[in-house]
Amino acid sequence: MSQRYPLSWSRRLACLFFPERCLLCGRVVHPGVLFCAACEEALPPRPALRRIGMPGREPLPTAAVMPYRGRWRRCLLRYKFQGCRSLARQLGWLMAQAGADLLGGEFDAAVYVPLGKKRRREREYDQSQLLARNIGLFLGVPVLDALEKVKDTKTQHELGRAERLHNLDQAFRCSMDLTGRRVLLVDDIVTTGATLRECAKELYRAGAIEVCCLCTATARFAAKP
Ligand SMILES: [Zn+2]
Repeated sequence: MSQRYPLSWSRRLACLFFPERCLLCGRVVHPGVLFCAACEEALPPRPALRRIGMPGREPLPTAAVMPYRGRWRRCLLRYKFQGCRSLARQLGWLMAQAGADLLGGEFDAAVYVPLGKKRRREREYDQSQLLARNIGLFLGVPVLDALEKVKDTKTQHELGRAERLHNLDQAFRCSMDLTGRRVLLVDDIVTTGATLRECAKELYRAGAIEVCCLCTATARFAAKP
């Protein structure tokens, strides 16, 4: 995986005053380089792949580029909760490469798992939407605001098994016609896969012919596809 991402001329110029920093530890790096040498050495050699079971369909191929632990987890928390929205470009670049390499890169549209309205207001930006926009730019596919979160849900890991089964029922709605489209579904963290499964169900209901998932991080990072 190449760790150099394309910089615009304006961004190159801005680097003279605000140098680029390592995505993981914050050390100053050359423009267009994502990681310092030490962090690059610690990177998993390739994204994690798994298949999420879908009742009545082929399992969902799912790739994640980082383990959700240590410095990678801290990087993602900075992006999600500390307003570091500019990280979306670098994270999006990493994810786009995984999408192109591992899932064939043949998509008609990218769609993201949206935040609920309340959380969107609190956080001021939707982290998965920003990631999807960057991934769309790098892969050259349109990003659709196709999904909407229509039900307040609880965090899955705080629930018992029975509650968990129905917590996400009809939590998302697809408002667009996706007939015949191959869709790349983007999210930040994949844990049980239940959220991706619910969103994929909606995308198929809206006519999608294929759905693949691309996430930033997973807690179950085996790095052995
Ligand atoms: Zn570093």
